[in-house]
Amino acid sequence: MVVFTKVVLEKKQVHWNRVPVNKIFIEQNTPEPKVKAYIPMYQPLQISKCEKCRKVIAEPKELIRILKEAVKLNEEEMIVMDKLVFKLDKIPEGSRLEEYVKKLPKIMNGSKAEILSFLNNTFVECLEFLKQNTDIVYLPTITLKLIPAHEQFKREEQRESKKAISKEVAKAPVHAFVVGNRFQKRLYIDLEFFIDLLKFGYLSFIINLVHTYIHEILHIGFPQKYEQEIHDLECSLVEAFLGIELPKEIKNLKASDYYSQKNL
Ligand SMILES: [Zn+2]
Repeated sequence: MVVFTKVVLEKKQVHWNRVPVNKIFIEQNTPEPKVKAYIPMYQPLQISKCEKCRKVIAEPKELIRILKEAVKLNEEEMIVMDKLVFKLDKIPEGSRLEEYVKKLPKIMNGSKAEILSFLNNTFVECLEFLKQNTDIVYLPTITLKLIPAHEQFKREEQRESKKAISKEVAKAPVHAFVVGNRFQKRLYIDLEFFIDLLKFGYLSFIINLVHTYIHEILHIGFPQKYEQEIHDLECSLVEAFLGIELPKEIKNLKASDYYSQKNL
């Protein structure tokens, strides 16, 4: 496995390095002699140098204790999406997913403002990515509405769905929806749903969030497309955006399992 260690460079710049390690458990003394405690430590497999400053940052004889600042990248982590559970073959080095996974622990333990700015920035990144990588010709101004509580989100959704004129109706609970006119849209996000995904890990959280952002932006950019077309496009864009390959089970999902045609 791999852990990340932080090196502070000149001018307080920070560089995260990957260090290949083995996880081991070290016995700890406790006040009660019959009770044994073990703490996880990480033994570097080789001498590692910082990619930026070439300083030695890890060597096998010095065990690494994971503190808050060092982040474990768990490639065994199960990812939960809709009713599917899957594992990624790998999180490619230098991918956007890797970048997110590295910075998320700090953000999620930070202030509310940090979390909200991450959610907003990620949305803008998705938006810019779609503008550059699809043939969307026109996008209205989109305001992101992060609704903190699920109940409040449901109330907003019920209120808005009375006015909505969607071709297809979701069978399962929705976690995001869009309202507005040709020039201005509001994207509502059920924040509690996404925050709740953190219990499965950062991967589930970020992959679901990006999927939802991209899905909804595609609906706005391609108002004529049906759910199935959106879904197919969305999967390849999520892959390109995060730099990963999604399992076939996700890519082969049929929109008809999730949506039914309205007024037909
Ligand atoms: Zn949709």
